[in-house]
Amino acid sequence: MAKRDYYEVLGVSRDATDEEIKKAYRRLAMQYHPDRNPNNKGAEEKFKEAAEAYEVLHDPEKRSKYDRFGHEGVRSMGFEGFSNVEDIFSAFSDFFGDFGFGGFGDFFGTSTRTTRRTDSNRGSDLEVKLDLKLEEITTGITKKIRIKRYVRCDICSGAGEEPGSKRTVCSTCGGTGEIRRVSRSIFGQIINVTICNACWGEGKIIKNKCKHCGGEGIVKKDTMINVKIPPGVTTGNYLTLRGQGNAGRRGGEYGNIIVVINELEHKYFKRDGYDILYDLKISYPQAVLGDEVEIPTLSGKAILKIPPGGQSGKILRMGKKGIPYLNGNGKGDQLVRINVWIPTHISQKEREILQSLKHSENINPKFDNNGFFKKVKKHFKY
Ligand SMILES: [Zn+2]
Ligand SMILES: [Zn+2]
Repeated sequence: MAKRDYYEVLGVSRDATDEEIKKAYRRLAMQYHPDRNPNNKGAEEKFKEAAEAYEVLHDPEKRSKYDRFGHEGVRSMGFEGFSNVEDIFSAFSDFFGDFGFGGFGDFFGTSTRTTRRTDSNRGSDLEVKLDLKLEEITTGITKKIRIKRYVRCDICSGAGEEPGSKRTVCSTCGGTGEIRRVSRSIFGQIINVTICNACWGEGKIIKNKCKHCGGEGIVKKDTMINVKIPPGVTTGNYLTLRGQGNAGRRGGEYGNIIVVINELEHKYFKRDGYDILYDLKISYPQAVLGDEVEIPTLSGKAILKIPPGGQSGKILRMGKKGIPYLNGNGKGDQLVRINVWIPTHISQKEREILQSLKHSENINPKFDNNGFFKKVKKHFKY
């Protein structure tokens, strides 16, 4: 199904402010929220569509890509939209918190979705920029990256306490790990549940902290990571290495490593999608007479036949010498642009030869003004 325009989805103008975009999304999220529309596939689709539009339009970088290149532009940044509702809640947990959606269940009095608690101890994600040469992008490559990250403390196995030490019940939350605040509104009672920050939701306090990690259960460590890059990637594409980011404190899950691709500029080639553009300089006699020349390609040198009479700017196509398609079969081409090179220093002998050619019959450009205007007249009928 073709995607709708994001501005149209949110019902805002193309020059809408961040505030207007936020408001519009908030209104739609309220309207189509799954808690208010149980078992309603249509509402769920609308909820997802709105979240996707908001995800793009509230991010200045994604919005400007979208404004210039449409859906294709944000897809090139690795954004594909949301496949399920849970993703939306985790992506916008701050947002839903902001507006009291966090307690949405309480808000409408019916829900089971009162606390959407993810692992609060989960380690953070690490973002790594990876520079790649065009040659590496063409073949695909396995890269070693050195990364400083948190790993689980091996003295206490991530627990954070000296072996054999006891824990006491947290006095702030009384061992429940959460703090409840009740307030009243026109919709009734709102219960706001937050994690106790004295014990980080564990309900217990460590008495003797592990000396190696200071009770956090994690330590910094230099690690080497292998990343396998498929052929065909481009700047802005990213790979997620699940569970290889920072370890979470006190035995929490590992976060991810996000590897963001950065394509380096090439000495000879310019990339255009999956095609490679190469500017070739040839001499005037080569242009007139045609020739065979050796050309660099991403897979080594190749011979290119230049037909006689090749004009400057003409593009010759070398099939399948470009970049392999990402996740697909086939390859782009290498496009060779002809540039007739004009020398600035010539010998006396060369000068004489060129002088003798100057008034030769077939050497001068032909431009039949009359014929041209006749054609234009016929075409436009004036
Ligand atoms: Zn430790
Ligand atoms: Zn507590």
